[in-house]
Amino acid sequence: MRENPEAIKSVCILGGGTAGWMAASALAHKLQGLPVSVTLIESEEIGTVGVGEATLPHIRSFNAALNIDEVTFMKATEATFKLGIEFCNWGRIGDRYIHPFGDYGTPIDGIPFYQYWLRLKQMGEAGRLDTYAYPIAIAEANRFRHPASDPAQIESTFGYAYQFDAGRYAAFLRRFAEGHGVIRHEGKVVDCQLNPDNGHVAALKLDNGAVIAADLFVDCSGFRGLLIEQALKTGYDDWSQWLPCNRAVAVPTESRGGLTPFTRATALEAGWQWRIPLQHRTGNGHVYCSSFISDEAAHARLLGNLDAPTLADPRQLYFTTGRRRQFWNRNVVAIGLAAGFLEPLESTSIHLIQEGITELLQIFPDKHFRQSDIDEYNRRMGVNFERVRDFLLLHYVATQRDDTEMWRYFRNMTLPDSLEEKIQAWLTRGHLIRYEFGVFLPPSWVAVMLGQNLIPRHYDPRVDRLSSDEVRRAGDALKQRVSAAATATPDHGAYIRKMGAASDTVPLLAKGA
Ligand SMILES: Cc1cc2nc3c(=O)[nH]c(=O)nc-3n(C[C@H](O)[C@H](O)[C@H](O)COP(=O)(O)OP(=O)(O)OC[C@H]3O[C@@H](n4cnc5c(N)ncnc54)[C@H](O)[C@@H]3O)c2cc1C
Repeated sequence: MRENPEAIKSVCILGGGTAGWMAASALAHKLQGLPVSVTLIESEEIGTVGVGEATLPHIRSFNAALNIDEVTFMKATEATFKLGIEFCNWGRIGDRYIHPFGDYGTPIDGIPFYQYWLRLKQMGEAGRLDTYAYPIAIAEANRFRHPASDPAQIESTFGYAYQFDAGRYAAFLRRFAEGHGVIRHEGKVVDCQLNPDNGHVAALKLDNGAVIAADLFVDCSGFRGLLIEQALKTGYDDWSQWLPCNRAVAVPTESRGGLTPFTRATALEAGWQWRIPLQHRTGNGHVYCSSFISDEAAHARLLGNLDAPTLADPRQLYFTTGRRRQFWNRNVVAIGLAAGFLEPLESTSIHLIQEGITELLQIFPDKHFRQSDIDEYNRRMGVNFERVRDFLLLHYVATQRDDTEMWRYFRNMTLPDSLEEKIQAWLTRGHLIRYEFGVFLPPSWVAVMLGQNLIPRHYDPRVDRLSSDEVRRAGDALKQRVSAAATATPDHGAYIRKMGAASDTVPLLAKGA
């Protein structure tokens, strides 16, 4: 093989959480056959953040790119399927809707079905929007199947993600990465040596005396951002004015009853509560804003709101929403919590890790570290973070709630221009501005806006090509198709068992619950 003297020869990843092992696995896999060494440093004493159980459908393409078999992965991580998120009490107390990974029916004459639903609503004849979506119908009935490949079938109109044990996913990827040549160092980084000529990170010193040098460093050290912040002083854009929740308390409970193929997010007085069902336990947590509730009251609110006995003591977490001013600075690329954090309402963190890794592999540098490449990476990741911020914020501001100080805070907020424009375009004619980047596509925005009672004044005028009768018949036919297909879909737990993905340690699944 011809050697390129400018090529990166060594990559060092600092951190062995989800971000570190995802980065290590992807780099080792994609760079195999090249003369590049990948090392990873982690400290068991420091540990990982240990939460992060709900994902987005894109994780499937991450696993597929590494040729990871779905059954093996699900068994190893106690995973369940996720069809979307159920939002309770967000628009008004008592409201509920599901944001599905999929669409409401199929377009008619190229126009999305929700536009016809808006017309039905004006006619006073619209049923619950949820009843027109196959992924929602099966989620509500605790059913699951893989999407059909024939686009004519209603069973093809959705995607899916997983709910899994993040610690086990990191351990699973560690086996994968080490199997692909990644060298792991156990130890705490106590010193970071900078190159005096260019300010690049040259080497990391561990508490056992070892010194690890590398050409490129990937900072996956979590909230502390050991390299990107503590060594390179990159700076952090604090987004607390838009996303003020800054604490969480997490607690696992026993798995009880039917296995729901969706995550639940219930809005509370000063934040919200998550419920994520895995095979062996259910993850629960209360994300809250410390200006509006004390830690003691937040813990009590969570513990009083559980549907099964706890399996461990509650765990407290602190964070500041926002992003690093530069995700890539000199020869350091920050990925995961070291890059920023936008609170877990739509399970976006692991996805942003994936984006960071994908973009890095696309713009993989040589030893020159061209500033134009660095700027492009930072631009793309910056837009990704902003799009997620806007989508999360939408949940808090598309609401009629004003019953507590927190909800009143959101009512009086000045929105980022990007979100304000999007909401105004929606309200005037049900039109959604489509972004160049951003993980959430129009159906996701539709789900949240309509789910939280943000009803446009007008629907797409092209819908009027159909008569009232035709629109009525189209709606009824779709509802019947969805309902018939849902009834024929297998039970979620039974499906996991049948495909051989049930963990051997799970009595509930073994019993067929
Ligand atoms: C409350 C909450 C809920 C969340 N829920 C979700 C969710 O549902 N879905 C989702 O996608 N994401 C979620 N996340 C985010 C998710 O947990 C993280 O994105 C993910 O775990 C990645 O974390 P990380 O690997 O960046 O950092 P960490 O897990 O903190 O790992 C940091 C690593 O760096 C190492 N390290 C640090 N300092 C040193 C040192 N000096 N020397 C050696 N090693 C060091 C540590 O040992 C550790 O291995 C949630 C986050 C929070 C706070």
